[in-house]
Amino acid sequence: MAAQETVDHKYVYDFAEGNMDLKDLLGGKGANLAEMTNLGLPVPPGFTITTEACKAYLATGEEPDGLAGQIAAHLSSLESAMGKRLGDPQDPLLVSVRSGAKFSMPGMMETVLNVGLNDRSVVGLSAQAGGNDRFAWDSYRRLIQMFGKTVCEVPGEEFEHALDDAKRAKGTTNDLDLDAEDLRGLVDSYKKIFSKHTGREFPQEPREQLDLAIRAVFESWNADRAVLYRRQERIPADLGTAVNVVAMVFGNLGPDSGTGVAFTRDPGSGAQGIYGDYLANAQGEDVVAGIRNTVPLQELEQLDKKSYDQLLAFMARLEEHYKDLCDIEFTIERGKLWMLQTRVGKRTAAAAFVIAGQLVDEGLIDLDEALHRVNGAQLAQLMFPRFQLDHEFQPVAKGIGASPGAASGKVVFTSARAVELAGEGESVILVRRETNPDDLNGMIASKGILTSRGGKTSHAAVVARGMGKTCVSGADELEVNVPAKKFTVAGQTVTEGDIVSIDGTTGKVYLGEVPVMPSEVVQYFEGSVDPEHIDNALVRAVHRIMTHADATRRLAVRTNADTGADAARARRFGAEGIGLCRTEHMFLGDRRELVERLILARTDDERDGALAALLPLQRADFEEIFREMDGLPVTVRLIDPPLHEFLPPLEQLAVNVAVAQERGEDVAKEEALLAAVRRMHEENPMLGLRGVRLGLVIPGLFAMQVRAIAEAAVTVARGGAVAKPEIMVPLVGAVQELETVRAEAEKIIAEVVRDSGVEVLIGTMIEVPRAALTAGQIAEAAQFFSFGTNDLTQMAWGFSRDDVEGAFFWRYLELGIFGISPFESIDRDGVGRLVRIAAEEGRAARPGLKLGVCGEHGGDPDSVHFFHEVGLDYVSCSPFRVPVARLEAGRAVIETDGSDSR
Ligand code: ADP
Ligand code: MG
Ligand code: MG
Repeated sequence: MAAQETVDHKYVYDFAEGNMDLKDLLGGKGANLAEMTNLGLPVPPGFTITTEACKAYLATGEEPDGLAGQIAAHLSSLESAMGKRLGDPQDPLLVSVRSGAKFSMPGMMETVLNVGLNDRSVVGLSAQAGGNDRFAWDSYRRLIQMFGKTVCEVPGEEFEHALDDAKRAKGTTNDLDLDAEDLRGLVDSYKKIFSKHTGREFPQEPREQLDLAIRAVFESWNADRAVLYRRQERIPADLGTAVNVVAMVFGNLGPDSGTGVAFTRDPGSGAQGIYGDYLANAQGEDVVAGIRNTVPLQELEQLDKKSYDQLLAFMARLEEHYKDLCDIEFTIERGKLWMLQTRVGKRTAAAAFVIAGQLVDEGLIDLDEALHRVNGAQLAQLMFPRFQLDHEFQPVAKGIGASPGAASGKVVFTSARAVELAGEGESVILVRRETNPDDLNGMIASKGILTSRGGKTSHAAVVARGMGKTCVSGADELEVNVPAKKFTVAGQTVTEGDIVSIDGTTGKVYLGEVPVMPSEVVQYFEGSVDPEHIDNALVRAVHRIMTHADATRRLAVRTNADTGADAARARRFGAEGIGLCRTEHMFLGDRRELVERLILARTDDERDGALAALLPLQRADFEEIFREMDGLPVTVRLIDPPLHEFLPPLEQLAVNVAVAQERGEDVAKEEALLAAVRRMHEENPMLGLRGVRLGLVIPGLFAMQVRAIAEAAVTVARGGAVAKPEIMVPLVGAVQELETVRAEAEKIIAEVVRDSGVEVLIGTMIEVPRAALTAGQIAEAAQFFSFGTNDLTQMAWGFSRDDVEGAFFWRYLELGIFGISPFESIDRDGVGRLVRIAAEEGRAARPGLKLGVCGEHGGDPDSVHFFHEVGLDYVSCSPFRVPVARLEAGRAVIETDGSDSR
């Protein structure tokens, strides 16, 4: 090829020179165009300008040395291959200029088609197309429109309005009814729009058009929307985009031409078959823009059997080559099929599982690869109940699926009304333009949240995800009028009390109550469907992949459960023990009265009396759980929250006392309570008298709990089951705390257990940064560690979770300070480092020290991978997340430790 290229850096690659592994350099689109070219598929010739050229341009504001020459050289070989010259007045070569980064990114410049047309070459183009003036002027007006909009930032609506005006003048709504004359007129209007907004004439010089378009693609890498998107998706800011220059092929040459998209399998369900859309006599962007109604791809068989058969053969070829669902863009120019793009296609959660299973059956991939192709977020989606959508339900709006789930309820517009109606037992959906921290109570009271503004990181979205509430955000078709208590959508008005249904997975909004059906996948986990015999491709695929995940993973998966019922359910979901049994619920309900007695005790006798009354109640709770978990370990956390949490709130007590005094009633007890609440009030309860500190301050409290645990274990063991209690001391920061508790506990255990064969372990939570940093000392006194990553995150960042999520996390996410809330996914660099230090130093001091994690991170996919990498023994999460953790623990093995299939 041309001499310039040998001078220095290679910035331009012909399609024939690249391949699919060069996505960093050529971007996804360019790498795949190269791959198809080398497979021998009919791709129009072209070349790719590398991401490195883009990076160099962005660094200096100028094209790097040698780039212009290399483009000229590749352009001229493209011209010889096509036998035409760019913009030649007699027989013009036209090209498209297409952006294409490593990851596809909304917010970047897309594509300019028909570069090379001008006032003269439009005539030549028509002549070459057999005097097809209509085609030529249609192509020219498209160039001005796309070039104006994407290269020169002319507002796109202006062109659309001019097009609408032309159609209206013609008395039609179909662009095909515009003839050559109409389109020539439209070109004139477009040019005026162009010069009005840019202060210059539409550029007539073909190479200038090309260079400006290339520059615009480079610059679009730093467009605001692109920058924001990258921050949120954690895509590195320094990748740059490639630019593809592709010889044009024309789908708008007449009825024997057209353009379409195709999928090698149904991206919705994963089913095999022919899926796609076709539009005759059109250029590529029309399909997506929805300008005219497309026809199903199958109908192409009638229109052009030869191209159709060829397309199916190419699709099969691509699937076999990529070993995955591919999506494809193609164009037919007068009966000749051209392939314009392919990539491994996006798919729904259900399709991901089904396709992975099918590809294993077809021998294209192995089970490790199938496991790699699905993920826990998809599995979690499949576990939510879904709307049962018959034809009668059509969505009226579509926003962003911000927090999954399916929720129906009465519309309310204010937080106060949400609380009020929910209090009457109604299901409500809180509808707002956007939410703010004042809406928090209303959000808690609602079944779902619907906003007309804001994205995945808006206040509504962040808070809803934190609460596990269904949320659709940014449904901008909704015109929300809070003062008038109504919204309008699709020409209908919805007022307070009307029922709507929102799907937090798809972002769709329905009027009326859509019936909800349970998830088949949950039924499978519950054991109520037999995966081997059910005619449900999804359940069979899930079963197969879960079985493989279980066989592959090294991490055990336990659950957080406080009741026998939760424990039983989690066990069905595959939990291999309880990693966190909180004892505080055992102090609620009618037991509050005993806690009050404990707090108000003035003498040792009074206190011991209260504890003695609590003992049998706690023991019964533990017995139930140990029985359910027969044979599996159960980690019980000694009481953790500050005791005043069990007393009525200060204001309420004060009112009660005042009212009772008014009536002249005996208020001695209330007054004592009120005094206790005042005395125990803490400015920062999360940092106050809680956890191990309670055990050290209130004599007999931990001892009672330890006794209840040991006695329950012995009773269960005598009954023939196997109880494996592990006592966990919360909030330890210094080994001395643990040693003190342990000395007392061991005495009690020895006394209770005797010859029953029961063994009780004593360990600690690692949730105070100091504990992580002195783990070597603490391990001397602990038989196991369990990382309490919620508190560890709060204390490492100095965040109070309850306060910060609603107050400013949305802003931090918007700014990219973190890509995801550190309460959702472990902060590897900070909190993760504490975990790593504690794991290493703990094991160094006590080889074989058992390490686990409890807290919501135990069910978060990325965090599970981290815990696998750090070498923990188990994760523990809520029962519903257990399958997700099992799946991700399996994936962590193949992704971290490597596997042959990758
Ligand atoms: P996007 O990434 O938005 O799909 P593309 O670069 O793929 O942008 O192009 C937009 C449309 O233009 C697609 O339908 C594509 O097939 C079509 N297109 C791109 N290049 C050409 C070309 N050289 N000839 C004909 N159509 C093209
Ligand atoms: Mg495309
Ligand atoms: Mg804690």
